Amino acid sequence: ERIISANLMMEDQAVELSLRPKYLAEYIGQSQAKENLKIYIEAAKMRKEALDHVLLYGPPGLGKTTLSNIIANELEVNIRTTSGPAIERPGDLAAILTNLQEGDVLFIDEIHRLHRTVEEVLYPAMEDFALDIIIGKGPSARSVRLDLPPFTLIGATTRAGLLSAPLRDRFGVVCRLEYYTNEELAYIVSRAAEILQVEMVGEAAMEIGMRSRGTPRIANRLLKRVRDFAQVKGDGMITKEIAEVALRLIKVDKLGLDEIDHKMLKAIITHFRGGPVGLDTIAATIGEEGQTIEDVYEPYLLQIGFLQRTPRGRMATVHAYQHLGIEPPEKKE
Ligand code: ADP
Repeated sequence: ERIISANLMMEDQAVELSLRPKYLAEYIGQSQAKENLKIYIEAAKMRKEALDHVLLYGPPGLGKTTLSNIIANELEVNIRTTSGPAIERPGDLAAILTNLQEGDVLFIDEIHRLHRTVEEVLYPAMEDFALDIIIGKGPSARSVRLDLPPFTLIGATTRAGLLSAPLRDRFGVVCRLEYYTNEELAYIVSRAAEILQVEMVGEAAMEIGMRSRGTPRIANRLLKRVRDFAQVKGDGMITKEIAEVALRLIKVDKLGLDEIDHKMLKAIITHFRGGPVGLDTIAATIGEEGQTIEDVYEPYLLQIGFLQRTPRGRMATVHAYQHLGIEPPEKKE
């Protein structure tokens, strides 16, 4: 696993639990989503009703699980957490739903991965707070409708486009989470350092923030590595110098690129004069799967404008040349 991967790793789990903000006021950034949710939550509490179903979407590590827990906290209700692939049969979902209490939050992570048959149980549950159960088999089978307590479904997904239309349409509140700014990330690691009781100067927080690829999960992971380094090589205090040396050692550059990013950009620039070059050709050159490049390596490089996708393949931009310290060819874009 790459240290700059946004996916949850084993090493993150314990720390993430302690660093997770519990209330909206502690949840940094995402002002659009936060303002909307604040109003909906207040209104639901005033009416003493369950909050409308909420869909949170955006890349991994941006705080969807955190925000779901915050919503339940703010509503002062219980949260039941599960994930799309974990619910194997319709009966499993029925069991979860019948165990909810009025107003509770049911959080389904990776909701785009729900089995179709399970998803169908969710429609009447979301719309009418009802569960349709088939009793008996064959010609004598009949359907019985059970009432469920009003509840709030919070669905999280990294791939909103993969959600079926009937499911998507049943969410009253839809929030897209955005990548965080360097300043927000610096603020997040400063707060984390305080909780972890590590001393850190503001400039060090900024060093970590700008290398975190817009993602709090990565920021917290980098902080942990830098903290270890500060303890072993220094006196525990995270100065700008300590942060810089530690991050250089773990090979995460000023923009959060690692060796694989460098290898890929260099391959495009040196072997293919900056492109355009086809995905499969890049894959063969650096010894990776095309699919992995497309899903894992390339999104961030596209997002920061280092790569461009053209009909004839991928192209390295002038920014990529400059970042690698390579003279761009004349008349490159
Ligand atoms: P997702 O569910 O989108 O993959 P998580 O909610 O698990 O992401 O967030 C990963 C970690 O990042 C959390 O444990 C938390 O420590 C931190 N985090 C996420 N969003 C924020 C935020 N807005 N403010 C502070 N910390 C955050």
